[in-house]
Amino acid sequence: MRNILITGAASGIGAGIARELAAAGHHLIVSDLSAEGAGTVAEGIRAAGGSAEAVALDVTSDTSIAHALTSISCPVDVLVNNAGLQHVSPLEEFPLEKWDFLVQVMLVGVARLTRAVLPGMRERGYGRIVNIGSIHALVASPYKSAYVAAKHGLVGFSKVVALETADTDITINTICPSYVKTPLVDSQIAAQARTRGISEEEVVSQVMLKPMPKGVFIGMDELAGTTAFLLSPAARNLTGQCLVLDGGWTAQ
Ligand code: NAD
Repeated sequence: MRNILITGAASGIGAGIARELAAAGHHLIVSDLSAEGAGTVAEGIRAAGGSAEAVALDVTSDTSIAHALTSISCPVDVLVNNAGLQHVSPLEEFPLEKWDFLVQVMLVGVARLTRAVLPGMRERGYGRIVNIGSIHALVASPYKSAYVAAKHGLVGFSKVVALETADTDITINTICPSYVKTPLVDSQIAAQARTRGISEEEVVSQVMLKPMPKGVFIGMDELAGTTAFLLSPAARNLTGQCLVLDGGWTAQ
């Protein structure tokens, strides 16, 4: 049983992974911007017989990170860097403050929190860091310059941390899924339909699922199962890598 801290876990992928890892017997520290959203997920886990606590944690704030890490009940064995958001716009019209914010959450925020938990992991001689990257950590799509830059940066960041932690039983890896049906994707469908001037059905079939030879959304069980594999002894020497769940997108 490990203590697993997941960021952005009040919704979508974070909540899904939290529920599945709790069902496997781990203790979940469900975190998100608001303690309320995280609390609802933690409560659901406890109601299902699992072990979970909730904490407010804004990955863009060192104060929030420090407060969260001192208020939780246990050390962090596993960190899942999941918090994220999307904004689609041609670069020339992309609000710069929005561009900066996406990078702050999905790249700088990951560095902030990772550096905060690493000393404890080193002290205890064990740590697993799992980043939720994206297919956009490996390939580009138009109108997503900030997201693609942040996610590509995440892969480079993880390779460096893998080398810096190679002397101890700590690993860091990035799961790179193509589209997963979550609130983030639901809002993107509407935004992309507006930006591209096509219907929402066309966004799903022509933009999201077309590049994927398998033509289906990636399931939450696949993300949770891959995370569980990264926590297993079989993955103890797997570090600095991307695990790509893309239905064949990048095989083309
Ligand atoms: P989501 O919108 O359902 O959930 C994202 C969560 O992150 C929200 O609960 C939000 O409150 C939280 N968050 C945002 N800013 C935060 C901050 N500063 N600090 C802490 N929490 C913050 O989105 P999702 O689809 O579940 O996405 C989760 C992760 O998966 C993201 O990193 C996203 O890039 C990645 N991803 C999603 C898909 C997909 O198709 N949904 C595909 C590939 C990668």
